[in-house]
Amino acid sequence: MPMPTDERPKSFIRNLVDEDLGSRRYSGVVTRFPPEPNGYLHIGHAKSICLNFGLAADHGGLCNLRFDDTNPAREDVEFVDSILSDVRWLGFDWGDRLFYASDYFDRLYECAERLILGGHAYVCDLSPEEVRAFRGTLTEPGRDSPWRGRSPEESLDLFRRMRAGQFGEGEKFLRARIDMASPNLNMRDPALYRIKKAAHHRTGDKWVVYPMYDYAHCVSDAIEGVTHSICTLEFEDHRPLYDWVLEKLAWPEPRPRQIEFARLNLEHALMSKRKLLQLVREGRVGGWDDPRLPTLAALRRRGLTPASIRLFCERIGVAKKDSWIEMEWLDKAVRDDLNPQVRRVMAVVDPLRVVIENFPEGKVETIMAPFFPDEPARMGSRGLPLTREILIERDDFRLDPPPDFFRLAPGREARLRWGGFIHCHEAVLDGGGRVTELRATLSDGPRPAAAGGRRPAIVHWVSAERSVGATVRLYDRLFASRRPSGDLDGELNPDSLVERREARLEMSMAEAEPGGRFQFERLGYFFLDPLGTGPPMVFNRIVTLKDGWARRARDKNQAG
Ligand code: ATP
Ligand code: MG
Repeated sequence: MPMPTDERPKSFIRNLVDEDLGSRRYSGVVTRFPPEPNGYLHIGHAKSICLNFGLAADHGGLCNLRFDDTNPAREDVEFVDSILSDVRWLGFDWGDRLFYASDYFDRLYECAERLILGGHAYVCDLSPEEVRAFRGTLTEPGRDSPWRGRSPEESLDLFRRMRAGQFGEGEKFLRARIDMASPNLNMRDPALYRIKKAAHHRTGDKWVVYPMYDYAHCVSDAIEGVTHSICTLEFEDHRPLYDWVLEKLAWPEPRPRQIEFARLNLEHALMSKRKLLQLVREGRVGGWDDPRLPTLAALRRRGLTPASIRLFCERIGVAKKDSWIEMEWLDKAVRDDLNPQVRRVMAVVDPLRVVIENFPEGKVETIMAPFFPDEPARMGSRGLPLTREILIERDDFRLDPPPDFFRLAPGREARLRWGGFIHCHEAVLDGGGRVTELRATLSDGPRPAAAGGRRPAIVHWVSAERSVGATVRLYDRLFASRRPSGDLDGELNPDSLVERREARLEMSMAEAEPGGRFQFERLGYFFLDPLGTGPPMVFNRIVTLKDGWARRARDKNQAG
């Protein structure tokens, strides 16, 4: 992975916008973020939000938040509310520019009548199957609908009767009259309005005809005075239709300009709303805010800051070609954001007891340690109680260490973080051969013989009795495969959540505020989940300190 830099390269979109302003095509910038309220926002949406709000802010312009709520069957107020709170959380303010496409239903309908009267649209009676058959393919032109020659008067009458509820779903629809032989399938007389007898979450039962996305979107943009309508690449082939509609409506200049960019694909994650919904519905995750999902609600719950997501979006930039972004980019942005602002503390998530035999029982020695070693004055210090019994990470000890293991083992030494050296001279096992306790002695320096030329490794620790209990959730990639295809049975990472209920934290953490973020030394960045109903406190791992997946991939390459 090339290291991200924080200088801001000018994206091709920024260049286009600057050109448009330079040529006085527009006198200012108005963008919009147009979510469909049929799911929760994910980090791909964050890319679009940062882009749209960012462009507007950089040019002293405006960005509208517009709900694209033209499909009553799939939409819900639950999603409207979550989207509003997610955009706000991400740090963007739409001011008084909150709009709904459904607010334009009257105008959209009037515009459709105008298209009919101008001979640019007609009511068609073909069934959905017939429409498909008439449509042709990429290599074959389509065929004209037998209703294509309907007079504007007849179409207008039928369209009004559609609106009045006189026909059933699928019996009739309104379509543009463009060109059934166009090499662009989107231009082969696309549908503009269809009958849908569903209540809408805002307009109730007022409508039984609803506009199609391609029609509603460009007209909504134009109504709002949007200058740059930025969307993802799959809409590139729809752009001629976008322009066609506004042209046939003789919409006054300057009309909005559609610009496409590559959507974000993040490795080890899936972002299609359909797939996210499936993961939630099938109970594969705990809900829309399960910290393993790429939704903003989930990332917030895991403990990511909005600033880290904005930093990530800034660094990945915008391109015109689809690509996959490594999850490591997000991890790196999170670490870079948290590193200068959080305290370092000690926590042992999978404790192994160590009895220091040369340390008197009942004695407590207080070791002063700064919360932020790089700048000790900045966040102050705390006392770490050292007692005869301490806990270290089980992982930091091996009974039978492999050659590349340099931490604690029988006969070996390690340095306690902020403390002295412990020499392990005995491991106590239970009947099943599991190590239950280590016996050690403490000294001020490594014994030259034991060190063997190597400086002893540093291990983190807490006092066994003078520490606080907590549950720690170690989150990892939800999908083991880098580019998941969506096969939930085959691709989910079985270890995406490891819960440690026996974790112990240093005493200072008794005061931790819900919503606080910390670095647990050597383990990663953690978030005190404000929704965890404690005690015990529940900490979510936000991110590890290093990229374990890159190491795993390397090991695998070397092995194979
Ligand atoms: P899905 O296809 O999963 O349903 P969508 O793109 O239809 O998602 P919308 O609610 O319509 O979801 O998206 C709102 C805006 O966010 C659109 O302008 C869309 O282009 C943008 N967007 C959605 N997904 C991504 C992504 N992965 N990367 C960048 N922008 C995205
Ligand atoms: Mg969409």
